[in-house]
Amino acid sequence: MFIVKEIQTAAYLFASILFILSLSGLSSQESAKRGVLYGIVGMIIAIIATVAGQGVEGHIYIIGAIAIASVIGIMLARKVEMTAMPQLVAILHSFVGLAAVLVGFGSYLDPSTQTLHGAEHTIHLVEVFAGIFIGAITFTGSIIAWGKLDGKVPSKPWSFSGLQMMNLILLIVCIALGVLFCGAERTSGMLYLGIMTAIASFIGVVLVMAIGGGDMPVVVSMLNSYSGWAAAAAGFMLGNDLLIVTGALVGSSGAILSMHMCEAMNRSFFAVIFASGSGSAKAGEKKAIEGEVTALNHEEVAALLKEAKSVVIVPGYGMAVAKAQYPIYDMVQTLRKAGKNVRFAIHPVAGRLPGHMNVLLAEANVPYDIVLEMDEINEDMPETDVVMVIGANDVVNPSAQDDPASSIYGMPVIEAWKAEKVIIMKRSMSAGYSGEDNPLFYKPNSEMLYGDAKASVEKLLGFLK
Ligand code: NDP
Repeated sequence: MFIVKEIQTAAYLFASILFILSLSGLSSQESAKRGVLYGIVGMIIAIIATVAGQGVEGHIYIIGAIAIASVIGIMLARKVEMTAMPQLVAILHSFVGLAAVLVGFGSYLDPSTQTLHGAEHTIHLVEVFAGIFIGAITFTGSIIAWGKLDGKVPSKPWSFSGLQMMNLILLIVCIALGVLFCGAERTSGMLYLGIMTAIASFIGVVLVMAIGGGDMPVVVSMLNSYSGWAAAAAGFMLGNDLLIVTGALVGSSGAILSMHMCEAMNRSFFAVIFASGSGSAKAGEKKAIEGEVTALNHEEVAALLKEAKSVVIVPGYGMAVAKAQYPIYDMVQTLRKAGKNVRFAIHPVAGRLPGHMNVLLAEANVPYDIVLEMDEINEDMPETDVVMVIGANDVVNPSAQDDPASSIYGMPVIEAWKAEKVIIMKRSMSAGYSGEDNPLFYKPNSEMLYGDAKASVEKLLGFLK
């Protein structure tokens, strides 16, 4: 059964509104669940309206493919650990890129597009070329990002002098191929498309290889944006207005998020996306770390907490690995009952996903009013008795402020060292995601509390109750 064009258009309009409401819902923790729901309903309406549209054939195959993909999606989503979410997001972006490439080739070979003439024909060819170009960059770039987040590819930036020049030349070659493609016959057109796809795939690899360490959050949100533009390009090729709108929404919101991340990390947006020395690090010797590392046991840390009036908790990636958010909130409730002022300090790039820590704390029902952003809490650090750094490392690294040779130099950090006492809870002295050593561990007011974050917090709770 087909639906008429007018009903399809109305359904698309309704789905677009739901997608916009979804994005606005996702902008705050209180409304995020509602935002996700709007997105799900919008997508169901979009799929039904598209599949039931006139001219769509092979429903049995489409429904079969949707059913199989839904089962795989549900299984993956149920199985995936929160710590592996960034990798999953990166690999899903790569699928969008690959889909745009396949739609591009399919659309070019589609006999019905052969009947187009004049400007219409040229516009279609430009859509195909641009769609495949963006899609191929998104596809390979996202695979490299997945590798970097999963530890399969080194997270450190890999670059060489002349990289930007090479990328610029490759871009010019692609534009020239595009011009040739628009005037070519089918066989040579396929050849130009194939060469451009190979070049764009290579650009995707080197672009993401050149960014790394502390700048990876921007890569993740940038690839999110590219996947949106790839979907919009596919929408143009398929003549599907909703796909254009949805792609543009994802593309522009991803670009805005990337700019916010750059601002939060004191990075230049263009320097990061064009991989032109993404960090602010200057060449030269790294500062030697001075001081001695000292450690306390759980009972001693519990005694410190009992004495303290104000406590700030800085969670990081290790909290996610250990799934320590639940006992941490138990500990916070115990401390608050004892009259202490306990708050969380959230760094914008803590963990491995934008908003990672906020999601985990919300999962454990931590009230939003005690979860503060880095900028809101940094000025309170000198008046804080105890800062507990739980599974965080890069986001509290003072080298970001005082070592120009550090790869995270220039990134704003949580100034934990300004508190009276700092307790660092982690398993060893190993470095964080950026690979940089952390002088905070050697400060005279710092104490290590070694062990898995969850087990440590549970032990502390035993001494606090
Ligand atoms: P880091 O990756 O800097 O440090 C995490 C620390 O957690 C490690 O040093 C590790 O030390 C410790 N840890 C790991 N497992 C456990 C455990 N079970 N119990 C206790 N501790 C544990 O994390 P941060 O959150 O401080 O910084 C995030 C980093 O990730 C930044 O460099 C950021 O740029 C990058 N990044 C962020 C993204 C985002 O969007 N938020 C995306 C991609 C990268 P040990 O092994 O000794 O226990």
